[in-house]
Amino acid sequence: RAKQDGRGVFRFFEPALDAAARKRRMLELDLREAIQGGQFRLNFQPIFDLKRDRIGGFEALLRWEHPTRGNVPPIEFISVAEETGLIIAIGDWVMQEACRQATAWPDHVRIAVNVSPLQFRNSGFPNVIFQALSHSGLAPNRLEIEITESVFLDGETTVVTLLHKLRAMGIRIALDDFGTGYSSLSYLRSFPFDKIKIDKSFVNAVAEDKSAAAIVRAIVDLATALHMETTAEGVEDRDQLSELRGQGCSSIQGYLFSRPIEGELVEAMIGSAMSAAA
Ligand code: C2E
Ligand code: MG
Ligand code: MG
Ligand code: MG
Repeated sequence: RAKQDGRGVFRFFEPALDAAARKRRMLELDLREAIQGGQFRLNFQPIFDLKRDRIGGFEALLRWEHPTRGNVPPIEFISVAEETGLIIAIGDWVMQEACRQATAWPDHVRIAVNVSPLQFRNSGFPNVIFQALSHSGLAPNRLEIEITESVFLDGETTVVTLLHKLRAMGIRIALDDFGTGYSSLSYLRSFPFDKIKIDKSFVNAVAEDKSAAAIVRAIVDLATALHMETTAEGVEDRDQLSELRGQGCSSIQGYLFSRPIEGELVEAMIGSAMSAAA
């Protein structure tokens, strides 16, 4: 009955759509203020190198402390920032801030920065990286950018050209959330990534589910054959860790080792992880 009455259905849903649109519009206005108002900060999550038995780097994760709503998680605002183009300015800030903070860390510790497709395709992007590196003085080989395969969706050739250009600057390139997209394998042929990050949906199940374990094993073997490193994302328990170690995964990231932490705590964590390993 509802299907026949098109107008009735529309009227029924209209207030809900309106509320969603209003909420999105408010989020957009708040996001504009957040940039000016310094409401963003970075947290850092360690990536533990299983081969060298030490922290190999940290991933910068954006945090928004909204003046009235408190902490707003990235999943709620990154998409709005992308739709409105605000991600360009936000991503610029993330890049500068991440590189700046990483200069205080030991030389072997890298910083990984998420780059959204819109930001990556923006013509100013190489310059943003160049500025972040030159202002901070961070060595380019300590910067790793994390992209998802969705950057390839409009025009593989230009993306690959840019990736080679960034690589020529010394920057490392990681393919994030591997396995969740449409045709991940073909992108592995188009560009020699430094690292593949195995999505946490596979990692979660690796210890209990034979098919998840088989998929992770296949990804690790494939990456190894292609001379790429692997990071397992979202490692939460010891069973997952031992399975991943056994499969030859290069590094792990997840709550088992540590949640994302404040920037001021990073150096202490590197120090205590080194003395624990010694
Ligand atoms: P991602 O790049 O895949 O980052 C990993 C996410 O997994 C982070 O969520 C991290 O907190 C979470 N995580 C880490 N270990 C575990 C674990 O053991 N269990 C579980 N359940 N989760 C774990 P977060 O910080 O909420 O970020 C979500 C996504 O938002 C990121 O996914 C990334 O796509 C995006 N994001 C975060 N910061 C930035 C940024 O600066 N720029 C852009 N463009 N995107 C960002
Ligand atoms: Mg990431
Ligand atoms: Mg990821
Ligand atoms: Mg993810």
